Amino acid sequence: MRLISALTTSLLLSSLSTAAHLPKDEKLLSPLPQQPITQDETDDLAKVISSSSLLSLHRALVEVESISGNELSVGELVVSTLEAHNFSVTTQSVPDVNNASAKRWNIYAVPDATKYSSSHDSSPAKNKDKPAQPKVILSSHIDTVPPYIPYSLSRPKHSKSASDILISGRGTVDDKACVAAQIQTVLNLLSTSNSGSSSINPTDLALLFVVSEETNGSGMKFFSNSTLYTSISSNLKAVIFGEPTEGKLASGHKGISMAHIIAHGKAAHSGYPWLGHSANSMILPALLALDKLGDMAPKDGGLPRSKEFGNSTVNVGYMTGGVAANVVPKFAEARVAFRLAGGTPESIRELILGAIGKADPKGELEVDIFQGYGPVPLDTDVEGFESMVVNYGTDVPNLEVAEGVKRYLYGPGSILVAHGDDEGLTVRDMERAVVDYERLVRHALGL
Ligand SMILES: [Zn+2]
Repeated sequence: MRLISALTTSLLLSSLSTAAHLPKDEKLLSPLPQQPITQDETDDLAKVISSSSLLSLHRALVEVESISGNELSVGELVVSTLEAHNFSVTTQSVPDVNNASAKRWNIYAVPDATKYSSSHDSSPAKNKDKPAQPKVILSSHIDTVPPYIPYSLSRPKHSKSASDILISGRGTVDDKACVAAQIQTVLNLLSTSNSGSSSINPTDLALLFVVSEETNGSGMKFFSNSTLYTSISSNLKAVIFGEPTEGKLASGHKGISMAHIIAHGKAAHSGYPWLGHSANSMILPALLALDKLGDMAPKDGGLPRSKEFGNSTVNVGYMTGGVAANVVPKFAEARVAFRLAGGTPESIRELILGAIGKADPKGELEVDIFQGYGPVPLDTDVEGFESMVVNYGTDVPNLEVAEGVKRYLYGPGSILVAHGDDEGLTVRDMERAVVDYERLVRHALGL
């Protein structure tokens, strides 16, 4: 076994989001089958969307394709929307490792203090040059997975309720439902702040929308390492991350590590295999060993388990090797993802390397480990929310927060349809998300 540091982790990282998907065999949770509809019915559904600022914004966001790496147009839409609502917007240009000329932004926005009255700030001029120090950041991502699926509306035949309207298309759930609901939430809170009926201070709130969550988390990592973040985070009490959680509060999500294994053999005629060296035969024992690590007890060398997160799991997600049945293969490679219920990235790395080492005593394989992160615990100390553990990865570990800053993960719609052909959620899901985000913000502010 030989560790290869020269291999970039970008390829491993690019398969991260694919590995993050749950199986799409949970059809029981999929929406009811939809019937073909008439033009009148289509107009009817469209009217429901147009009459709601939340649903119109959501539609506008979904109608702009923003597959990771191509987030510029949707970013422009988000910026113009926020500026039209008197937000002060800062954009961060985030480099794309796969395309040096690509242009896209993280978007950080705070209510413009000169436009939103604040009874809390007696001398606004005093801190004119110091950026606002929000207590709560609401954050979600503006990129989606491929392929683009156009926005569409439908309604179960048995229903006449606007709440039952199903909104489908790429990003309707993951993550533009969260983007639209978080913007609407802050607008609602600001309007109550302006009316004086609540003690919300506009400068306590900020919005953060990042790129590349679905590939390598580079948008959130960029923000986390930026002077902008350092300059605004001194009062931070909570970050509310938006990802589909079926309207529940996630109590945590598993960690992840990945392994990329390469075998170099020697080609020969299959009738004379002793003249070659099969790369497939070299790599198979290592893959079998890794495949068992999730089922093996930790005391016997298996992956960690925990009460909160259950068992760690293994997915031998990609393998290739050889060129034909009658040729001894000279090359083979595989990629394996580990969803972690415990342990640290370093301890998991040792465990993986140990298992491969036993299967490859001569050290012939090349191995590159993407260490990733351990399980991510999240806060759930808000009454009235159900909680759930989720198995997918998020940007939460990519944002460094100070000790004591709460991290909530909440969003409308189900991860079981996000990324699928049938991605969609109901009007009811969307509207409830705004109510729930408001409750989370108020809780975080102690109101
Ligand atoms: Zn997402």
